[in-house]
Amino acid sequence: MKPIVYVDAAATTPLSEFAFNRALPFLREDFGNASSRHSHGVTARQTLEESRRTIGETLGARSEEIVFTSGASEANAWILNAIAAPIVAAPAINVKDVNVVSTAFEHSSIWETLRSLERRGVAVTYLRPNRDGVISTADVAAALRPNTRLVSIMTANNELGTLQPIAEIGRLLRERGVVFHTDATQAVGHIPLNVNELNIDFLTASAHKFNGPKGFGFLYRRHDVDLPAFILGGSQERGLRSGTENIFGAVATAAALTENVAALPETTARLCNLENALLRRLREVLSSSDFSVVGESAARLPGFLNLVFNGADGDTMTRLLDLRGVCASTGSACSSGDVKPSRTLLATGRSELEARSSVRVSFGRSAVPDDAVAVADARK
Ligand code: PMP
Repeated sequence: MKPIVYVDAAATTPLSEFAFNRALPFLREDFGNASSRHSHGVTARQTLEESRRTIGETLGARSEEIVFTSGASEANAWILNAIAAPIVAAPAINVKDVNVVSTAFEHSSIWETLRSLERRGVAVTYLRPNRDGVISTADVAAALRPNTRLVSIMTANNELGTLQPIAEIGRLLRERGVVFHTDATQAVGHIPLNVNELNIDFLTASAHKFNGPKGFGFLYRRHDVDLPAFILGGSQERGLRSGTENIFGAVATAAALTENVAALPETTARLCNLENALLRRLREVLSSSDFSVVGESAARLPGFLNLVFNGADGDTMTRLLDLRGVCASTGSACSSGDVKPSRTLLATGRSELEARSSVRVSFGRSAVPDDAVAVADARK
């Protein structure tokens, strides 16, 4: 049987061996509850705080600025609801006087939450990316209003891999005194990020995108920005998110992230080579008018390609690729199975037909040169 070629790392990645081995003892031998005062509890607490510090260091954050969550969807919903509609925390604020600036191609966890805020009366401004899948800082500046409470713009788009000018946007928003959130789920562990240099107030991340475990993630909250509690109860996570802490998740996430960050220069070079090899091979087997790369000249995540094939159906193509042993996806994995045209591609100004004709190829860190050839040849 032919080996499976997995080129859907943007959907998820396997737990790294290093992270698994590091975290395994915390499922059985070291099973303590971090709130217990006995030795088992103390070990759990120390391990949890060590993981928090390690994760913080990879982003230039203080340990107390990292809050553990179940993943990015939770953290995104928390921030948007808490900052944009702080009805409970600040009853003096009328929700009708709140504006949020975001984009038309955010992940559904942001998009659907913004839609729900709109139903509650919040005014949301959705900026459109250009044809290359990039938001303009000038558009962000022009969209700001006196009542803009939050700007939420992703670091890297999950369908296109395109990087947004978050350094420029961060500088602008710091000058204007507007809170800046970035959903960095696709970027953390894949490109260097420093929350201070980038002037980020809130950043969200998910461990399973960088070879950590599923159902675990974190939120960076700048120490001087207020955030109302999300879950009340035992006061874990500094009273912000109650519930017995997931020590396995924290240890595995810290290990996976440090491992990925340490290997970044090597992984980046290797994944860029794979991406180029795939494009070269595709150009050998197809004519240049048969397909295009969205954002080809834009800065993108390494090893990440969104290919639009003229006149083809992306959904059918990914099924065909699967039959030939290649796992890729169309649109975002979270919405695949749903055959609507991609909201992200429509936002870049492409037609409905084009927005149904794309395949996303995202190489994981263990991808090898043969994978690039296998993907191109499977399309023949
Ligand atoms: N934001 C982005 C940009 C994503 O790619 C994803 C995962 N597809 C999420 C948020 C949601 O992450 P999680 O799976 O941790 O809820």
